[in-house]
Amino acid sequence: MGKKGKLWELRGSSIHQQGMFARADIREGEKIIEYLGELIPKAESTQRCLDWEAEAREKDAGLVYVFDLNEEYDLDGNIENNPAKYINHSCEENCEAINEDDRIFIHAKRDIAKDEELSFDYGYDIECFLDHPCRCGSKRCVGYIVARDSRPKLKKLINKKQRETAKKAAAKKAASAAKKKKSAAKKTKSAAKPKDAKTEKSVKKAKTVKKPKAEKKSKDDKKSRSDKKTKVGKKKKKKS
Ligand SMILES: [Zn+2]
Repeated sequence: MGKKGKLWELRGSSIHQQGMFARADIREGEKIIEYLGELIPKAESTQRCLDWEAEAREKDAGLVYVFDLNEEYDLDGNIENNPAKYINHSCEENCEAINEDDRIFIHAKRDIAKDEELSFDYGYDIECFLDHPCRCGSKRCVGYIVARDSRPKLKKLINKKQRETAKKAAAKKAASAAKKKKSAAKKTKSAAKPKDAKTEKSVKKAKTVKKPKAEKKSKDDKKSRSDKKTKVGKKKKKKS
């Protein structure tokens, strides 16, 4: 962290309430802040996660602050003195959480410019993704907070839904076109326009969602830090 002093500050965020922002330019790999928390045994952690999930669903608040730490303990970051808990998730994150000898540090994943909002991949699994909409605003946003590894799966799921919607729209269009053909002889064409335009739009929308496909490749080039350091994500417990 060193001579530049504190590299971060908290400000209002367009992603979610408060966020953490770069106070200065930050170099790739630089350690920004430790993610502090309370050490809790696994069983306790599971219970807390379940409680929070229920609460989060009610209040629309991202309340899961627990990290997998090691085989015995997890880290509950929901304490007062843990500003790192305000770092938001982004689908195009610029930081990563790294476990170094059972402590978690937030590192810059790339060079970050002063005033950029800091973010990392919360690593949520795909289950209950609907509970965690993502508002990161990045070009690659998949619309929900899920771990990078799960995003191709999520996209497939969403695409499938979009295709079904598009199919329905196309069928509707065909049906109404046939109908129009029948009455075309009698009526002027201008009446048909708004409806056509609308159908066209929904078909187009289904297509654009398919686009971002290149995610996978990053898996290997980021893999190899030292052995003791492992990339970690926040923990997400199953609903019982
Ligand atoms: Zn996003």
